[in-house]
Amino acid sequence: MMIISGKEISVKIKDQLKEEVLKIKDEYQRLPKLAVILVGDNQASQVYVRNKERGCAYIGIESLKITHDASFSEAELLKEIEQLNQDDTVDGILVQLPLPKHINEDKVLEAIDPSKDVDGFHPQNVAKLFLGQKSLVPCTPKGMMVLLDEINYDLTGKEVVVVGRSNIVGKPVALLCLQKNATVTIAHSRTKNLKEVCKRADVLIAAVGRPKMINSEYVKEGAVVLDVGINRDENNKLCGDVDFEDVKDLVHAITPVPGGIGPMTITMLLQNTLEAFYQHQQ
Ligand code: NDP
Repeated sequence: MMIISGKEISVKIKDQLKEEVLKIKDEYQRLPKLAVILVGDNQASQVYVRNKERGCAYIGIESLKITHDASFSEAELLKEIEQLNQDDTVDGILVQLPLPKHINEDKVLEAIDPSKDVDGFHPQNVAKLFLGQKSLVPCTPKGMMVLLDEINYDLTGKEVVVVGRSNIVGKPVALLCLQKNATVTIAHSRTKNLKEVCKRADVLIAAVGRPKMINSEYVKEGAVVLDVGINRDENNKLCGDVDFEDVKDLVHAITPVPGGIGPMTITMLLQNTLEAFYQHQQ
């Protein structure tokens, strides 16, 4: 059994990005810059934003953290995004989700210049992903594909089952696997016989948000299991959607939680920011 250490792989990639940033500095006399907007005081969001800032500092790019209290209006936020769209020194714009209830998330995501949309959530980038055109790809799904590459896993002809159909994880990762010639099933809360469906998978991707839901009854022997979930178990300990202990002797490879998909997500955000930077030089 192989534990796919997203933590180690992400450090390796970040070190490569760091080298790249040094070259960028030499060649363009300017550093890539990521703007992160945080509205409200969601604790988890604050941790995510802090980690994103740390990631930027690690590879040596600039980050601009903009915070507002929960009463910040939608109109003010849209105006701010427009200013960042116009600002040539800003390459990437990320609005941390979730936003307070009075702000329409779709409207906000659509306001971001697609060429600066480092989360890959703008409808234009979503459409490009759907069409298989080059685009800024959502970070968590992109990170999963990099992990499969890192273990030299060829998806051609493989059965992939994705549990979860969210716009940020389930749907985009299913499209990316399809692009790599896998046979893809997307399962969700209304799927019948979920255990049987999951047991078909050569690659099982769990993006559900339910602690340890996927146990050995869902997993085929020799499968690769990618666990996206970030949950708390009954002892308030961080855990995934997969019952790691229960499936570990069954699988060919598995990502742990923490230290699996999570660190890759931030690393892909940094990579997307460099991609956006290059796009702005053209
Ligand atoms: P959502 O809540 O948006 O989607 C969850 C999906 O799981 C839905 O499609 C839902 O189905 C499905 N689902 C819920 N219950 C069941 C069930 N009993 N059986 C089958 N399917 C079910 O979650 P996200 O995609 O945003 O996130 C999923 C998990 O991944 C969360 O734990 C989140 O914290 C984590 N996450 C981790 C990231 C990382 O960097 N590691 C990044 C993003 C998310 P339906 O559509 O029918 O309701």
